[in-house]
Amino acid sequence: MAVTLRDRLGEVTSITVLTGAGISTDSGIPDFRGPQGVWTKDPAAAAMATIDTYVADPEVRRRAWRSRRDHPAWRAEPNIAHAVLVDLERAGLLRSIITQNVDGLHQRAGSSGEMVIEIHGTMRDAECLTCGLVTPMPEVLRRVDAGEADPPCLACGGIQKSATISFGQALRRDVLDAAILAARSCDLFIAAGTSLTVHPAAGLCLEATEHGALLVILNAQETPYDEIADAVLRGPVGETLPELVRIAVGAGEQR
Ligand code: ZN
Repeated sequence: MAVTLRDRLGEVTSITVLTGAGISTDSGIPDFRGPQGVWTKDPAAAAMATIDTYVADPEVRRRAWRSRRDHPAWRAEPNIAHAVLVDLERAGLLRSIITQNVDGLHQRAGSSGEMVIEIHGTMRDAECLTCGLVTPMPEVLRRVDAGEADPPCLACGGIQKSATISFGQALRRDVLDAAILAARSCDLFIAAGTSLTVHPAAGLCLEATEHGALLVILNAQETPYDEIADAVLRGPVGETLPELVRIAVGAGEQR
């Protein structure tokens, strides 16, 4: 008799979830690379997200600050997909959430800060590119509202940027190491709402499977890792992730 995914979920005790833009689109935050994506529709937005252009061109920075101020994430609420990962944590089954998103919605939903690994950083802080000073983003955006089009660092006068990883910037080594460890030390790895085309985030699927984890991919479109996945659920993440979590938590309670 074939062993079904449902049976195998009954043996799962430690789950790491990789989340991408697809988990936040239901909260009204557009993705970047899809047909309606920010970068697809507006190449100038991609220039704002490239470190060399950002540092070299004051007009790009002024535009970036306006874009940060007007970002939909400030008004966005977490959705059901964020909420069920809080359930997973409360059930004692969550190892880590590795997120490619910078919107902070996992923490807003109630996931513990220590559970969330933000591999692409966070838009909720600003960081000085010269001295590294980190300031809560709302404090800097208040200066933008007060008329500073490109507010410099208050400590050293340097250029500030959101504490996110721009194109041309390396991921933080300690954060990447934490993500790799979380992928290697789970027995189920769920990739939810990510196209799995951005490295090294996508390679975490391999880290997980090579260390014995089941791999389940939840995404509206195909991904390059579908072939090695134990299961692929193609529907909206807002439906597939709650279903998967419900089965995993239910199986956990029966143990
Ligand atoms: Zn500084």
